[in-house]
Amino acid sequence: MKGQGHIIFLGAPGVGKGTQAKLLSNRLGLPHVSTGDMLRASVLAGTAMGRRAKAVMDSGALVGDEIILGIVRERLAEPDAARGVLFDGFPRTLAQAKALDEMVAGATVGIRAIVHLVLADEDIVERLSGRRVCAQCGAIYHVRFQPPTRAGICDRCGGELLQRDDDKPEVIRHRLEVYRRDTEPLIAYYAGRPGYREISAVGDSEAVSMRILEELGEAHG
Ligand code: AMP
Repeated sequence: MKGQGHIIFLGAPGVGKGTQAKLLSNRLGLPHVSTGDMLRASVLAGTAMGRRAKAVMDSGALVGDEIILGIVRERLAEPDAARGVLFDGFPRTLAQAKALDEMVAGATVGIRAIVHLVLADEDIVERLSGRRVCAQCGAIYHVRFQPPTRAGICDRCGGELLQRDDDKPEVIRHRLEVYRRDTEPLIAYYAGRPGYREISAVGDSEAVSMRILEELGEAHG
């Protein structure tokens, strides 16, 4: 039986958290919970929360902890989260990490692993600036490293591939600064725990995925 418990992906924007969480979600049978995807869905749906979040996201800043924690609490209460989820882009501040610890304290499912993906700065910028995302199904491509068969069209669903507003060069720099200031302290917060793993994000997504599965003891399951 596959292990249970939440898995957290840590690392700078563009390091491959979303790509890996999607791959491992199929492999481990746990839902992929991306707070960024959930916020973008609210933006598209035009909800009040989405309208407020859009300006913040477009600037590369972080959405408030209360909003994020509300979304996560609701998501964890859904039945498919009962064996654990793969968190992508959450937690992003110390306050969020502490709140998550409180949420899981006493629950049957705890935090099983913290996967810290590591990549050099220049590779991060290259991955972010070349990233394209399917507007319809959310599949992630890269113009150079993982191009679709037909330019601009999703291989999986035929949807249009777009560049995220916050993947534009002027926003990327700010997002990396925000990461350094607000999210990097989480590494020290989690580093002493038995489930903490530092994993190189160099190479193609399959190679990185295999490294993660090996570290989780799930490579041959
Ligand atoms: P992502 O798709 O994870 O890169 O998130 C895109 C944007 O959504 C971020 O730059 C933030 O503005 C916002 N966001 C996503 N997750 C969080 C979070 N856990 N805390 C604060 N803001 C978030």
